[in-house]
Amino acid sequence: MLNPRPMTDSITSGREAAAGHAPVAAAAAPAEPEAKPGGNAAIIRRLARGYVYRQWPTLAVAIFCMVLTAAMTAALSWLLDPAIKEIFLEKRRDMLVLIPLAVLGVIVLRALTTFAQQALVDTVGERAVADIQRDMFANLVHRDLASLNAVHSGQFVSNFIYDTTLMRDAIVRGIAGIGLETLSLIALAGVMVYQDWRLALISVVVLPGVGWVTQKIGNALRRASSRGMAETAELSTVLSEALDGKRIVKAYGLEAHVSRRADARIGMRLKYLLRVVRTRAAAVPASDLFAGSVIAATIYYAGYQAMHGEIGINHFASFLAAMLLALQPVRNLTQLWATASSGISAADRIFALIDEAPKIGDRQGARPLQLAAHGGAVRFRDVGFSYRQDTSAPALEDVTLTIPAGKKVALVGPSGAGKSTVFNLLLRFYECDRGTIDIDGQDIADVTLASLRAQIALVTQEPILFDESVADNIALGRPGASRAEIEAAARAAAAHDFIAQLPEGYDTRVGEGGLRLSGGQRQRVAIARAMLRNAPILLLDEATSALDSESERQVQDALSTLMAGRTTIVIAHRLSTVLDADRIYVMDRGRVAEHGSHSELMAVGGLYARLYQHNLNDGETPG
Ligand code: ATP
Repeated sequence: MLNPRPMTDSITSGREAAAGHAPVAAAAAPAEPEAKPGGNAAIIRRLARGYVYRQWPTLAVAIFCMVLTAAMTAALSWLLDPAIKEIFLEKRRDMLVLIPLAVLGVIVLRALTTFAQQALVDTVGERAVADIQRDMFANLVHRDLASLNAVHSGQFVSNFIYDTTLMRDAIVRGIAGIGLETLSLIALAGVMVYQDWRLALISVVVLPGVGWVTQKIGNALRRASSRGMAETAELSTVLSEALDGKRIVKAYGLEAHVSRRADARIGMRLKYLLRVVRTRAAAVPASDLFAGSVIAATIYYAGYQAMHGEIGINHFASFLAAMLLALQPVRNLTQLWATASSGISAADRIFALIDEAPKIGDRQGARPLQLAAHGGAVRFRDVGFSYRQDTSAPALEDVTLTIPAGKKVALVGPSGAGKSTVFNLLLRFYECDRGTIDIDGQDIADVTLASLRAQIALVTQEPILFDESVADNIALGRPGASRAEIEAAARAAAAHDFIAQLPEGYDTRVGEGGLRLSGGQRQRVAIARAMLRNAPILLLDEATSALDSESERQVQDALSTLMAGRTTIVIAHRLSTVLDADRIYVMDRGRVAEHGSHSELMAVGGLYARLYQHNLNDGETPG
């Protein structure tokens, strides 16, 4: 099936602006997350169950390495005790060799396990991101047009790239925090208690203080990074608009204008990110203040004890080493809440995206659309439709159209008359508000979406090509088509000759949006795609942009071949191309104003005749 999103762009593009749709990235930007304990727990559970636990073998090895790392860290501090006692106090020669060797052994083992656990945890994080991106993309392509139109593409980009990065950081830091840092702290605390439990007690006293600072800093960081994310989304919107509209930007000399827009966004983003930087920078010194006071208190108390002969230097040295080694895990845990909370709010936005179910889907009991041989008759009966419920003028009102199977029917009328809306409803990009549409007597609302769209080929004004090979672009009409079938379609679309002359023939990549091909060539590739699709119903939105007469003739010939024997509905912008239509519907402000053949309509002398005269007089297009 063709990807409905890009193929429809030319039908709907630009309409949002006309209908007063403001870019909604701001509205859809991440709202400032409030601490919601139940919600947070649910998000973490979903993240863990859906994306982390499934990697349990990697996770298990990582945790094993963490246990070893923590044990080695504790061993390192413990070794100071025998080192001082045996080497410095008792001056044993054998220990002079043995203990340094033991230290070296512990350090090497710790280096290996640190490396392994870090690499494994990062792997888990990156794999989780890849899995979630797959889920996000699957949701994106299945969304209905209305919801895709409601969110700016910059917002999706930001969800895809930045939110997933935040989420990964939270996963990685979360696992390391819960695993390595907590285990190290427990092991080091063990050494501290073993060496002197009273000294260990002093360290415990400051823990609530550290927790409080951590919480405050974490909250500030989350707020600032959330605002930064919203600005990042805005910036990607500005960036993608500047790139999508590059030709207009150049032609109208809008460089300064778009630069100003980007400047403003970059400035705002910088403001919030600097706030993040400052807050993050404050986290470590703040926890160090507490740590410093513990060290001072420890030295005082230990010194006091030593003066009374109650603590040996070897115990104290080992205790102090354990305490200093514990500083790093404490620092890391200080930042854990901050990283985790921005990751959780990112995951929340991601899950909101994934959970959005398409509003248009198969109804219960939907059956596949069945067309009789040479079938494909389309009927609109009293169809009414508005894009937005709040607009007073509906896009279509009481529209009744009868398109017999295998015939060519043209829709003409002024801009905004509702011609493209007819296509949008027939393809069920939107559902009718009133009335029914049926194909060969089957209401399209009751058939499966896939079977409906499989019977229809759409050729848009601006052909949409993907930056793949020419052959791949044609094959989108029917995935899995053989090279011979692709070539046959290209021949029928009068495209084979020019394709054969491309540097790599059918394997030539067409460039972004097909920009390496001319307008006429792009159209013929799109026609070849429709040819390959071989659907009985053809929707043709005639190109408005003028081609030179040779290209025009080739495209018209290709279209005539394509239309032969198919039910064709064509949105005609140049009335010269509708003269041979079996029936012409003249639309005006969402209604059918007149219908009939060209000569009948000319005889009536109404809107059609005026449009036709207008067309003849100054060669302008009425659509
Ligand atoms: P044109 O010849 O200029 O392409 P058209 O006859 O195809 O015009 P439609 O695109 O069907 O006209 O639009 C009919 C009405 O619906 C217009 O008033 C238009 O502004 C509105 N409209 C179209 N698409 C949307 C959309 N996605 N959201 C809101 N309003 C829309």
